[in-house]
Amino acid sequence: MPGFSGFRYAVLGLGRSGLATCRMLAGSGAEVLAWDESAEARDRAAGTGVTLCDLSPPFAWDDVHALIVSPGIPHLYPKPNAIVAAAMRAGVRLDNDVGLFFTAHGACASPPTVIAVTGSNGKSTTASLINHTLTVSGRSSVLIGNIGRAVFDRDDSTAGEFLVVEISSYQAELARCLEPDVAVFLNLTPDHLDRHGGQGGYFAAKCRLFAGRKLRMAVIGVDEEEGCYLASRIPPDRLVRISAQRDLSQHGDAVFMSDGRLVSGTEVVCDLGAMRGLSGSHNQQNACAAFAALRAAGLTLDQITAGLESFPGLRHRSQIVAEHNGILFVNDSKATNAESAGKALEGHRNIRWIAGGLGKEGGIGGLAGQMGNVRKAYLIGHSGREFALQLGSLPHMLCETMPSAVASAVADARPGDTVLLAPAAASFDQYPDFEVRGDHFIDEVERCLKKG
Ligand code: ADP
Repeated sequence: MPGFSGFRYAVLGLGRSGLATCRMLAGSGAEVLAWDESAEARDRAAGTGVTLCDLSPPFAWDDVHALIVSPGIPHLYPKPNAIVAAAMRAGVRLDNDVGLFFTAHGACASPPTVIAVTGSNGKSTTASLINHTLTVSGRSSVLIGNIGRAVFDRDDSTAGEFLVVEISSYQAELARCLEPDVAVFLNLTPDHLDRHGGQGGYFAAKCRLFAGRKLRMAVIGVDEEEGCYLASRIPPDRLVRISAQRDLSQHGDAVFMSDGRLVSGTEVVCDLGAMRGLSGSHNQQNACAAFAALRAAGLTLDQITAGLESFPGLRHRSQIVAEHNGILFVNDSKATNAESAGKALEGHRNIRWIAGGLGKEGGIGGLAGQMGNVRKAYLIGHSGREFALQLGSLPHMLCETMPSAVASAVADARPGDTVLLAPAAASFDQYPDFEVRGDHFIDEVERCLKKG
């Protein structure tokens, strides 16, 4: 990559994105000082050939061009990490892999088109849908970012005509350079507030994606006030509003839903009702956003419709894992906050709801109006008791663990019911991540069904 040679970079956090950054920087001729506060992560990194250097105080920051911080490490709120704080005091610039990616990208002679996607919920689904549609239309496209494949976790042979980048608020907040060609803002609901000093900081982090000089098209979800505000700040010739809830025909080029059909401007494009990979109103929002981004990328209506139709959906998001004796089993382990769990609760009937884990601020208090489809809740993990209090008179059971919750839900379920894992909580109290939690749910469902 151009622009890094001869500089000394410190890299803090040696997970997937940190290691990929170390490789890229070293391969681009930079000097790399790599560190992680976990001995296990350091050992893993050393095994890949990374040179370790303890950055903890009293490390001298002279001649360090920038400190590259992994997204999991707090740089300001709720409290700066000690190494980051020392670097800031020494006047070292902070950046992250996404910032370096856009810096390097800007220096390329013929850079690929970058489509960036942010929002509180639906980023992975929308970014995957865009990448899928580009691919089935014959374009060369690579999916990277906050989706399990770091921005530098690729080599030149996988560089595409398009790069679809999922951007989290943590990544957007710290990146010094954010220059996508097309950027998508899906929605905003409270999440990660401790890391951003509140809702304003969280929103401001996401807005940074729309301030670039290269931005050709901003696709903005206007189902919340924040989206309306952001849209009002963007020049109309570079803006497409999208909504799953409102008729936006007065806005000319907007993309919205009408009776289950996706409408672009005044043209009805397709019926999303029959598309199994895009069920539920939340996926309608994702489909509208993907449609607008793909139109900006130059695809035809037919190419986009073919992509929406063939999209298989993502694991751990509204994923149907079994249908047995008239009972449906759905894995929505990625519903890590109340808002996304609420969408899952709206999408099914007669729900045996497995919820709990490491709850977010407010727990499931915000879901009071969305419990109409729930027959009974089966609560697991750290927040099980808090959720039980918030459920009040709704039938519920404290199960503590996934095997116990699945077994109880299966024992209670009748034909026509849905056993739904939609935790409304992070997984870290019992699992390394939401994927392992979802896989555990699937294993337990299979085990129960085998036992009959
Ligand atoms: P993200 O990458 O933003 O976390 P995902 O696509 O992985 O988003 O979906 C996360 C959770 O949110 C899943 O439970 C999914 O069913 C739900 N979800 C997906 N799209 C939306 C949306 N547009 N609005 C609300 N919830 C959504």
